[in-house]
Amino acid sequence: MTSLETIWNKITAEIGSDEAGKNSSKVFLNTIKPTEISDDCLVIEVLNDFAREIVEKRYANVINRILEKEKPGMKHRLVTKARPKKEVYVQPSLPIIAEPGEQAPTRNEKIISSRYESMFNSKYCFDSFVVGKSNQFAYAVCQSVTRNPGTLHNPVFIYGGVGLGKTHLMHAIGQATINHNPKARVAYLSSETFTNEFIDSLKDKKAEAFRSKYRRIDLLLIDDVQFFAGKEQTQEEFFHTFNELFQQKKQIVLTSDSPPEKIQKLEERLASRFAMGVVVDIQPPDLEMRAAILKKCAAKSMVEVPDDAIMYLAQGVTSNIRVLEGAFNSVLAFSGVMGKPINKDLIDQVLKDVLRENSGGKITIPWIQKRVAEFYDIPEEELVGKKRSQNLVLPRQVAMRLSQIFTDTSLNQIGEKFGGRDHTTVMHACEKINRMLKNDKSFNEEFERVKRFVDPEKS
Ligand code: ADP
Ligand code: MG
Repeated sequence: MTSLETIWNKITAEIGSDEAGKNSSKVFLNTIKPTEISDDCLVIEVLNDFAREIVEKRYANVINRILEKEKPGMKHRLVTKARPKKEVYVQPSLPIIAEPGEQAPTRNEKIISSRYESMFNSKYCFDSFVVGKSNQFAYAVCQSVTRNPGTLHNPVFIYGGVGLGKTHLMHAIGQATINHNPKARVAYLSSETFTNEFIDSLKDKKAEAFRSKYRRIDLLLIDDVQFFAGKEQTQEEFFHTFNELFQQKKQIVLTSDSPPEKIQKLEERLASRFAMGVVVDIQPPDLEMRAAILKKCAAKSMVEVPDDAIMYLAQGVTSNIRVLEGAFNSVLAFSGVMGKPINKDLIDQVLKDVLRENSGGKITIPWIQKRVAEFYDIPEEELVGKKRSQNLVLPRQVAMRLSQIFTDTSLNQIGEKFGGRDHTTVMHACEKINRMLKNDKSFNEEFERVKRFVDPEKS
C-alpha cells in the first residue's frame, strides 16, 4: 500500500502546479490535510463546509485521477473538521413542544405542538423578519391575518420574485396562528404537494379522504400557486376546496411569483377568486434593508462585522435575500478558512468566487475578469488597468470578448467594467479576437481553454 505521505505529495504537487489556479490553490492546500488511508479510500480533512465545497468542485477530479493511477478503484472521502471552540455559532432554536396537559413554557418562546413541528421552520417567524419599504405592506397584512383569521382579508395573495420572503411569511403566519390558538387546524403546503397528494388519492381511491382533509382546515397556506399551471384536474379540485373554505370563512393565504391574472394556464375562475381578497407584492430589498438583514445575520452568528463591510456586501449583492444570506455565510466561512478578519478585501474575494454560483450559474463580468487573470497569471488590477504592454492587452481583449459572449451586457457596460473604457475599444477588442480565432489555430485552442476555465460546467 502506498503511504499517506507519498500519495499526498503527488496530489499537492499536481494541484500546486496548476498554473491557472496557482494562488488560490496554495491557500486551499494549507487548509486541507489527509488523515487516513486504506486500500480503497483516502480520507481528507477540510476545515468547514465551504472548504469542502471548493475541494469537491475544483480538486475532486485531480485527486481521483491520482488515486486511480495509484490503485484502481481507490476513492477519496472528505470529512469536516470539528469546529474550534472559540468560534461561536448559534444553533437555530427548536420550538418547545408542549404536550397536552403539560405546563406551557414560561419564557416567551414559540409553542408549536409536535404535530406542526415538521410542517414549519421555527426560524421563519415574524420576529426574524426584517421589515422595510419593499415588504411592509405584505408584513402588515400577514400579521393582521393571524389576529383576525378568515374575516378581514380573505384570501391573502402574496406575490414577488424568488428569495424575497414569501415562504418565510407563510411559516410565520402558520406558527403565530397556532401560538394564538393551539387548537387551530393549520395546513401549509406547496401547490406541488397539493397536486401530488391529489393524484395519489385518485390512484389509491382515497379521493374522499383527501377532499375532507383539506376542507376541514381553519387556515390553509398554499405556497407557489404558479405550479398549479396547466394542471386542470388539480385546479378543479382546488377550486372546490377554496370555495368550501371560503364559504365557511376559513382563512386562505396563497403565494406566487406573479399576480393572479399573470399566472399562465390558470383557470380564469381560480385567478379571479385568488384576487378577491387582498393582493400584496414584495419587492426586492433596497440598500438599507439589505444592510439591516446582514446586521441581523451577523448578530445571529455572534460575529463582529464592521459597518463598512456590511455596507460593502449589501452594495455587492442586490438580487434577493436568499442570495444575500448565502453570500454572508460564505464570507463568514471564508474568513474562518483563511483565518482573516471580515473586511472589503475578503468580501471581494468571496463575491467573485461565490456570487457566480449564487447568481444561478450566471457568469458575471467580475468572475470572467478573475478567471482570465488567473489563467494568464496576471494581477486583476492590471487586466482592467491602463497599461498597454503586450502581456496584458491580449488577456484584456479575451476577457472583453468573453464578457460579450457570456453576459447580457452592452459594449458600453463592458467598457465601464474594464476601467471605464469606451465602447469602441470593446468593439475593436471583440473584432480582433474574432479575427484571430479565424486565422490562428493555436490561439483558437487557447481561447477554448480560457472559455472552459471561465465556465467549467460546460467542459
Ligand atoms: P421566497 O419564498 O419568496 O422565495 P423565502 O421566504 O424562502 O423566499 O426567503 C429566502 C430566505 O431569505 C429565507 O432564509 C428567509 O428567511 C430570508 N428572508 C426573506 N425575507 C426576509 C426578511 N424580510 N427578513 C429576514 N429574512 C428574510
Ligand atoms: Mg418560497
